[in-house]
Parts: sequence; structure tokens; C-alpha cells
Amino acid sequence: MKNHFICWVFVVLGAGVGCSNEEKAISASAVRPNILFIMSDDHAVNAVGAYGKHLSEYALTPNIDQLASEGMLFENCFVTNSICSPSRATILTGKYSHKNGVYCLNQSFEDQPTSATILQQAGYRTGVFGKWHLKSTPQGFDDYKVLQKQGRYENPEFVEKGTEQLVEHTGWVDDIITEMTQHFIAEGTESAQPFFVMCHYKSAHDPWASRPPFDTAYQQIEIPEPANLCDTYIDRSQAARQTTLKLEMMDQKTFSHHRLDTQDTCEQRQHIYQQYVKAYLRSAQVMDDNVGKLMKFLDEHDLSENTIVIYTSDQGHFLGEHGFFSKRFIYEESMQMPLIVRYPGQIESGTRREELIANLDFAPTILDLAGVTVPTDMQGVSFAEMLWGNKVDGWREAIYYRYWQHLLHRNVAAHYGIRSANHKLIFYYGLPLGQTDFEPTQPEWEMFDLKNDPQEMQNIYGNFAYAEETKSLKQQLKQLQQHFDDTDDQYPELQQVHQKYF
Ligand code: CA
Repeated sequence: MKNHFICWVFVVLGAGVGCSNEEKAISASAVRPNILFIMSDDHAVNAVGAYGKHLSEYALTPNIDQLASEGMLFENCFVTNSICSPSRATILTGKYSHKNGVYCLNQSFEDQPTSATILQQAGYRTGVFGKWHLKSTPQGFDDYKVLQKQGRYENPEFVEKGTEQLVEHTGWVDDIITEMTQHFIAEGTESAQPFFVMCHYKSAHDPWASRPPFDTAYQQIEIPEPANLCDTYIDRSQAARQTTLKLEMMDQKTFSHHRLDTQDTCEQRQHIYQQYVKAYLRSAQVMDDNVGKLMKFLDEHDLSENTIVIYTSDQGHFLGEHGFFSKRFIYEESMQMPLIVRYPGQIESGTRREELIANLDFAPTILDLAGVTVPTDMQGVSFAEMLWGNKVDGWREAIYYRYWQHLLHRNVAAHYGIRSANHKLIFYYGLPLGQTDFEPTQPEWEMFDLKNDPQEMQNIYGNFAYAEETKSLKQQLKQLQQHFDDTDDQYPELQQVHQKYF
């Protein structure tokens, strides 16, 4: 399969060299693949049936599950900064936040090479529809209609290319996004250009709304709780204790009747959890329904065979694990992203991969799949070879993560860390680094043995039995920071913390 794409590049350039005759015959008839990139918002792997987690019986996502049964599911895909805008900037640029400049929700994002700008230059028809959530107008797209900031679920307004005016559309947001995506694809069916479309759904972001027939689901059902719903954070970080991501602290506006007249935190969490997770799953069902509509549309237009479909979410989400909702932390449920890729006849059906993938890799992979050279300053790596069933020698053994915004949202402390196949090491460095109005906190470490403690309940940092592993992870962490040029040389106060704590 690799040669198939390499030869295609030669044919397009008119060189026609470097391939055998047989390969030339294949490549001469090869057409560049269309790429349909479907991204939802905050859709945790625990809420995707195909991932087979503890909620899989209740997470009704038949259409996404079918994509997995027809394509490849990645068991270990992770975000590098678990919050909406930074993940979206990383997905587009293939770079960490400190390179693309989007650390949180309010940094501008303009004039940067992205998968879209590069594919547009390479002759692709490009479009983005739905949630954009970057502080700039989209660049590199032949057409776009995007929500302003979060947008709304019912009768949403979209900023449209050309007019840059907000236009209200009647209906449910994800249904409208599907129609826009289909319209863009249909408009180009007579064109020789392949398409690259980013279809970005609003679900399943708060305030977790749904529409018929999904809005009445789960009424007589008790959803199973995660085993650590009533986590008390004993022997863990101050960061875990002090965050206000806890279910009993959820916004009143989101669930107006959730508070009980009780001081029992666990009882409150259990009560709120049922309302929260049901609303979340209902919202995700509408989105999954729309994935099904898109797949049907591809079939009806004879596009399924030559369209690579990618399904993902901008990051994970806590569904009551540790008593939390939302994201931001490096903990598993927040850090892990769903990733499923379908390409009929090219990717073996129903396959799964274990390698550590990062959202950093999406842009390089998409360019690679389109036969376009990946810019050398992209920090991610193409995993296209894995899609063809091949092993990639020298693939990464750990993922570097960094959450920047110290105490800005939900009192989550800034931290960075490393996630290997079996362990996770986290350093909460305790400094606001230029953010005003936020006080330093005590620096601290956390470490988890993911094989023996997948729920991350036992902080093993300082445990003598893990001394060698800790030393190795610290070395890897430093190496990755060097490799990705995130060494914090501009912050002498952080250098002092490093000297004291490393
Ligand atoms: Ca998000």
C-alpha cells in the first residue's frame, strides 16, 4: 500500500519513475483519496460503544461502532493539552501549544500552515463546517460555515465565508452541520478535485442538549457508576483535591435541580452523575445519528470507496471518574481521544492498534494520506503506515503532555507530564508563568502504574519499588521537552523549581 501512494506522487509530477510497471498501472488509475474528518466535541472513549468500556452497553453509538467494524480503531490516542481550542490548533498545525501559540481559549490563531492550507495548495477542495472554536477566521478553506465560539444547539447561528455575517439556521445544530457537509461534497462531485472536509459537531459539549427521539432515552434506567465516582483523593496531589471539576460543584445553570439537602458528597455525586451522564449520552446519540447520515450519503453518491473517513473528538471527558466532569487534567479519561479510520478495501476491517498516537499526528497523517510532503517543522508523525497494517520502527514510547493555564478554569493547576505504555508521571509546577491574578501553588509530583492501577488511584511517586522507573520517566520527560523545544528557558522562576524538584 505504501508504494501505491509513493507512485501516485511520481505520476502526478509527470516523472513516472521509481515504480515497477505493475505499480504504475495501479497508480495511473489511482485517484487521490477524499478525506472526511469528523470531529465531535468532548466525546470520551468511555462513551463510544466500540471501545468496550464500562458504559459501552449504554453508550449507544451504532454508527461510530460500524466505522470501527469496517476500519481501524486506535486504542491509545491522546491529546497533548486537554482543552478545546488548543487541541483544535494542534490538530490543524501538527504542533504543540507553545509552537502554534494557542495555550487556552483566548489566543489568536492566524497565518499558520495547517493541513487545510497545505491541502488547498495541493489542489484539494477544502471545507470546514460546524464548531471551529479558534480565535480567527478559518484559513485554507474554499468554504466554511462555523459556529461563533460555542454556538447553540437549537437554531444556531453560523459565520459564513464571504459575508462573515452571522446567519441563523432553523433546526438542530448537528443536523445542520451534516447538511452543510453533504452540500459541500455534492457541489464538487463533478469536479476532478478530491475533497478534504472537516465536519465538526457540537455534541457532546455542555450544556448537553438533545433532540427527539434521543432526548427521552434512559428515563427508567440507572446508568452504572464508575468505581471511583466517590474518590476522596487520599494520598494524591493537592491539585486533584483542590480542583472544582467535581460533580457536586457543577454549574447550577447546567442542572438546575441537582442539589440535594445533604452533606453527603458521595450521595450528591451519585445523584448528579445520573442526570449528567444521561444528558451527555443523549447528546452524543444525536451526533452518532449524524455520522450515520454522512456514511449513507457517501454510499448513495458512490463515494465510500475513495473516501478516508476519520472519526475523533477534540479531547476526552470525565464521566464521573474521580467524581469529575469536564477535562484539562492529564488523567486518562480527559487525555484519551477516540480515533477510528475507515478506508474500504485499503484498511483491514475491524482492526485495532495499540501504539501511542497523539493529536499532534493528525495533520502529518492527513497530508501523508493525500500524498503531500509533510513540513519538517510539524512536530507530529504520520501513522499512515499503521493503517496499511505495517509496523513503524522507532515509533514513540511516550507522549509529552502540558496543560498551561494555572488555576484559570476550575482551579486546575498547570502541569506537564509523560504517558508511556505502562506509566504516567505528572509534575504540577505550581507557577502561573505570566498569568496575572493567580497565586503560585506548592510544586508536586504524581505517578501512576497504569497496568496495575488503570483508574489512577494510587500515587506511586516516591515509592521505592518504582525508583528506577521514576528515574527513567524523568529522563524521558526531559528528553521530550528538549525534542519539542519546550524547555521554559524564558522562565527563570520555573528553572529554579526544576532544580529543586527534579
Ligand atoms: Ca472540547
